[in-house]
Amino acid sequence: MSAQIISGKEVAKSIREDLKREIEELKRQGVHPGLTVILVGDDPASQIYVNMKEKACKEIGIRSEVIRMDQSTSQEELLKEIHRLNQDENVHGILVQLPLPKQIDEKAIINAISPVKDVDGFHPVNVGKLAIGEDSLLPCTPHGILELIRQTGTEIKGKHAVVIGRSNIVGKPVSLLLLRENATVTITHSKTRGLKTITKQADILVVAIGKPEMVTKEYVKPGAIVIDVGTNRLENGKVVGDVKFEEVKDIASYITPVPGGVGPMTITMLLKNTIEAAKNIHHLK
Ligand code: NDP
Repeated sequence: MSAQIISGKEVAKSIREDLKREIEELKRQGVHPGLTVILVGDDPASQIYVNMKEKACKEIGIRSEVIRMDQSTSQEELLKEIHRLNQDENVHGILVQLPLPKQIDEKAIINAISPVKDVDGFHPVNVGKLAIGEDSLLPCTPHGILELIRQTGTEIKGKHAVVIGRSNIVGKPVSLLLLRENATVTITHSKTRGLKTITKQADILVVAIGKPEMVTKEYVKPGAIVIDVGTNRLENGKVVGDVKFEEVKDIASYITPVPGGVGPMTITMLLKNTIEAAKNIHHLK
């Protein structure tokens, strides 16, 4: 039997419709959510991501502004800009597009963004709140993954979730989110022994490695939900995930495609966080 495909595209579209309505309501209450993105330098991939974010904001009615700074910008100059945005009442979300030029320390920049405006959810205060189970702005990709799992209608409570990857951006926070949902969580990584034996026990398998099609059907328990975070561009230009989709889809119950799975959810959760931040700043719930 073939797995049901979880279309991130469709889920994202439906969430964005809800967000659009929420913005209309907020505007009626005098609050117009606004996101400011800072792009330092001219990295082509970063330019594409920033344009996508700007377009997504416009489509649902979030005010968006992109501040473009020169490749040679110093850390002090960037910090000054962030301090200014932290004080600006019309800015609800601040996002500094990563990676940054090498003269700038990413950690110092993330730490400088006010946690209430940290729509990427990377500030240590937000990471800490997630770890101790307090409400916070959630990191976008892990939050999107959770929404996709919820979409299947499967109860997460009590399930064995195995996460491959322990990065600060995906693996670690998605593990914390699944734990918060009362899954039994196993985190695996490059030093894990007997990976297949562990992943074969997963009811929910989240794969965030960055190795094209590494996870074959030997890694997957029949009937598992498989979420493929990987985005790998092959030499022929094709984009594939970390999961060998064609064979795993025959044994999983649900699976996300690449592209069109986790990807579209990440920006959607950024939009959601901007609205969340605006509501928090203006004490609306
Ligand atoms: P990182 O490179 O930061 O982390 C990769 C993780 O995979 C590490 O924890 C590493 O282990 C682990 N790993 C590497 N090789 C193996 C192996 N052979 N067996 C088991 N574990 C292994 O990547 P990210 O977490 O940032 O991203 C992962 C993937 O997700 C990438 O393809 C990226 O492009 C994609 N991505 C997609 C997003 C989206 O919106 N769709 C957003 C973010 C990322 P160790 O810690 O031991 O080195």
